[in-house]
This record gives sequence, structure tokens and C-alpha cells, in this order.
Amino acid sequence: MTDRDVVERLGGYFGRAVISLEPRQDGYKPAFAVCVKGIDAVRLMVSARSALSSARRSQIDAALRDWGVGRTSWSYVGMTCAVDDCAVPAATKGLCDSHFNRWYKALRRGTSVPFEPRPMTRDDVLTEPASHARTTECEVAWLAGLLEGEGTFSRNRLAGATTSYPVISVNMCSRDVVEHAAALLGSINVHPRTPRDPSWSVTYVAAISGAGAAEWMQRLRPLMGERRRKAIDVALDDYYPVRLLVAPEHCVVPGCEEPHRGRGLCHKHYMSWSRDRAKGRVPRVKPLRSN
Ligand SMILES: [Zn+2]
Ligand SMILES: [Zn+2]
Repeated sequence: MTDRDVVERLGGYFGRAVISLEPRQDGYKPAFAVCVKGIDAVRLMVSARSALSSARRSQIDAALRDWGVGRTSWSYVGMTCAVDDCAVPAATKGLCDSHFNRWYKALRRGTSVPFEPRPMTRDDVLTEPASHARTTECEVAWLAGLLEGEGTFSRNRLAGATTSYPVISVNMCSRDVVEHAAALLGSINVHPRTPRDPSWSVTYVAAISGAGAAEWMQRLRPLMGERRRKAIDVALDDYYPVRLLVAPEHCVVPGCEEPHRGRGLCHKHYMSWSRDRAKGRVPRVKPLRSN
């Protein structure tokens, strides 16, 4: 994608370098990529599979169909010896060096040892259990990732009005993904959108606006890349709801991530706003509710 900061964050997660891609045509923005290969890619596919669309799940199943079949040499990085009570890193056939040597010597002598090697198999990797159950925090992170790629943070202004209200929308081909996003956002409907060009696929749209969108923007903002954060700040810039239906988790002052105290502001910004107002000055910060 073209957001370098977002791709750099991804590169950090996987310990991979960011690659610059030449724009496909003149006038296009340069794009950035991170490439994950081999067993790391397989583990990522296995762990992310359940959070993806049915189309992506099919791609993953196709990519993994023949992966690791007949493979005998595996990396045991990060795993400990298969022998109970041995905490030494595994090196060969699932055993640490010393247990492997004991097993191998016994095999050659025709004697036995009270443990067995536990070589890794393709199934071990493909059925690796999730590190934790999916929590609300995971769902919010999933939504942030989806909206980073496929979402729009904007504002709508009614004709003649001086204020506007924020809007979050997501528009993509995978209906199942849009439905999941809609359920999280509290969007009532998912609408199909007919493409301008009939050879393109139909896309599905979910959108929320007003107080619900403002609350989600505050919640998602710390997770988003620079470009989306700016869009959120613009969308909330002249939004003054009559009352706060749901208090945001964080202060609404752009760049401030302190916990919310009142009127959308943290303690420090609330005090600054109320001092300015008490002295009859133009407040330097903008609360969500100023009446
Ligand atoms: Zn061992
Ligand atoms: Zn603040």
C-alpha cells in the first residue's frame, strides 16, 4: 500500500524490511510492501484464517494444500525439547542436542531410551492452536486493520449548516467481511452497490454516522496510520453533538490519548477549556459538547 508508516509497522511485527515498489504508472504514488515467506507465512495464514473472508480462506487453503508434504527437515526455533522436564531448546527431531544424541546412540546399539523423538509434522504447523481466545480488543484491532485498507473516515455537512457530522464507511466486495464490520460498528444495513462499470464486481457498503461514528473514531484513532488519523481529526473538527450519548475512551483533542473526563476531553484539556471560557477567551481546545 501507499502508506509507508502502516507498512513499516507491519514490517516491525514480522521483523521484515519494507520494500519500495515502483509506481505502476506515471503519476501514481509509490507503494510499499512487506513480504513474509516460508513457515512464517504459513503460521500467519493459519492464525489469521478465521478472521478473513471466505475468499481469502479459500486462497489460504489452496496455498497450503501441498505445503510441507514429505518434508523431513524442520526448524525448531522457539520450541523446547520433547522430553518432559527438559527445557533445553529443541534442535533435531524435536529433541535437544543431548537427548537426540542419547536416542541416536541407543538406536545404533539396539538398546532403548525412555523417550521418543517428536519430529515436527506439517499437521503440527497447520493445526497450531491460537495463542489466545478472540477478545473485544482483537475485534477492535481487526476493524482498525480493515478500515486502514478499506474504510473511509469523512464528514457530512447538511446544506446551510455550520456544523457537520462524522461518517465511517466501508466498501468492498467481500460481503461476509462487510457484514462482520457492520455488526461491530452497529450499522443496521449492508447495501449492495452496483459498480459504474458492469464488468466490475458488486461491492457491499456499511456506514455509520453521528455520535456512533464519533465514538468509533476516537476508539480507533490510536490504532490507525497517519493518513487515517488526519482524516479522523478533520471529520471531528466541527462536530458538536447536542449531548454525548456515549463518552469516548480518549480525549478528542487531536494527538491527545489521555483518558476521557468530560465533554470529550481529558482532565488537562477540560481544565484549559473551562479556564478559557471562564475568562471569556476563545477556548484553545474544542470539546465535543460546548453548551
Ligand atoms: Zn532435552
Ligand atoms: Zn487531552
